[in-house]
Formats: sequence, C-alpha cells, structure tokens
Amino acid sequence: MTNLSDPIYHDEEKAREHLENIRWPDGPYCPFCGVFDSVKALPAKGSMGPGWYHCKDCRKKFTVRVGTVYERSKVPLHKWVLATHLLSASKKGMSAHQLHRMLGVTYKTAWFMCHRIREAMFDADPDPMGGKGKVVEADETFIGKPDSEFVNGVGWVQMRGVATKRKVITLVERGGRARSFKVNDLTSKTIRKVLFENIVTDSDLHTDQAQHYKRPGKEFNAHETVNHSENEYARGDVTTNTVEGFFGIFKRGMRGVYHHCGEQHLQRYLNEFDFRYSNRHLNDDERAKEALKGITGKRLTYRRTNEAA
Ligand SMILES: [Zn+2]
Repeated sequence: MTNLSDPIYHDEEKAREHLENIRWPDGPYCPFCGVFDSVKALPAKGSMGPGWYHCKDCRKKFTVRVGTVYERSKVPLHKWVLATHLLSASKKGMSAHQLHRMLGVTYKTAWFMCHRIREAMFDADPDPMGGKGKVVEADETFIGKPDSEFVNGVGWVQMRGVATKRKVITLVERGGRARSFKVNDLTSKTIRKVLFENIVTDSDLHTDQAQHYKRPGKEFNAHETVNHSENEYARGDVTTNTVEGFFGIFKRGMRGVYHHCGEQHLQRYLNEFDFRYSNRHLNDDERAKEALKGITGKRLTYRRTNEAA
C-alpha cells in the first residue's frame, strides 16, 4: 500500500533528499566529471536554496536534477516523485489529463512529464532474456486503426486489413521480464533480429504456428508451437498465454487510459508497460524506486520527444 501522505510527495526538501538517497547511495558525485571526493554541499543562502553542490575538480555547481530526465524542468521535485509513483503503480497507466488534474500542472507539462518518466522506465542496457532451461514466449499483435488513404472522388478511406496497423512483437520470459518492440513488418528477417538480439539461444522458444517463427525457431534449444487455428491454446507447458496476457493489459490500457497515441510514441508506451510487467513482483513503492533509479543518463528534450522513438 502506498502512503500518499508521505512528505516526499508534498515537501520539496524531503523529495530532494529521497531522490539524493536513491541516486547517490554512496554520497553525491559530480555529474560533469564523475568524481566523489571533491564534491561539497554548498550552504543555502540568498536565491540559492539547499541542495546545491560544488565540484572542486571542474568547479561546476549542480543539484540532484542535473543529468536526469528532470533537468531543466521547473516542476518541483515532489511533483516529479509523485508522478513517477503514480505511473509506476497504475496497472494500465495514467493519462496526462488525470495527472494534470492531480498535480495542478498544465496539460502540456503533464504530457511531457509522462514521456520523461517513460524514458526513465526504459532499460537501455538490459541483460539477455532466457537461458538454459528457461522458456521465452514470443507473439505479435496489431494496435490501432488501419491507415487511411486518399481515393479520388471519394476522399479519405480506411485501408483494409491488418497490414496497415501498427505492429508489435513482445517477448516474455516465463516468470520474468517482458520486452516489446514496435516493428515495421513481420518478416522472418525482422522477427529473427528481435529474437536474436534479446534471447539467448539456449532457451526454449514458445510461439504460435505463424510461418515467420519457423526458421529462426530452429536455432533455439527447442521451438514449441501451439496451434491456435485448431483451438489449441496449451499443450502441457507449451503455451503463449503469458505473452497474450501481457497484450491484454497493454490493449486495455491503450484503449481505456490513453485512447490513442501517435505512431512515433508507441515504443514509449510499450516501454512503460514492459517496465511495470517486468517489475510486477515488487510492491508499488519499490517499483517507483526502480523508476527513480532510471532517471539518470537519458535526458529527454522537448524536441526529442516529438521524434520517432
Ligand atoms: Zn566535477
């Protein structure tokens, strides 16, 4: 259970100390040159409040925000800490509209905060999935409406079929993490790349009988398939139910909470759902702490948010 009356969600000093403890468990280090020993806390005076440090080596001043996704934001840290907690704890996510009302910031600010927090949730350097004796399930799904095309004399019409929908491949290690990828196509070549960049080949791969898993599947320790067209969903421990459960949560979130999202943002939403799924064994406070650990080293500027992920 979360105690929302905890001062870290209301008191700027307490929020800063909370972040400092998470980011600097061994004491503050300089975000510019990386040293520990030459860093000194500066006394609060005048316009410079508490929380400033000085590095004797490079002679720069900094706070705990510098070098994080919160840098150059005017939003108080306690609102960041609360927003990060809410997004980490809500199973299907939280809309920028709701955050805007709960935090008392503008919608635009709330929207941008959400994207920065998703960035913090992204594991840029993950360990490979699977291993000897482990099962990884892989499956794909389609998101959103098909594209429209302009037809002379008719106007904009929706193109037919799933070919023009957004495509997502998700890998779930049974009992472990999930990792999702927005892809442009579902050719063997694309599937192969996703599988081999993320799963060790000692693993057992479980998929449905889709053609595009057949060739890459041969290179794993074992490749087991369930035959959905024959209404087979599990045969012994062979199943893709885990990854389909993940898609269920993702789709409910995208429909119920986020309503729609531009193609260029889809990967960020996937990162958010991957993060919550992969840390589902933690309680809400612990999961929020994991997200707060992720705020360093991936500062996101406004411009970058609007580019493709
Ligand atoms: Zn320095």
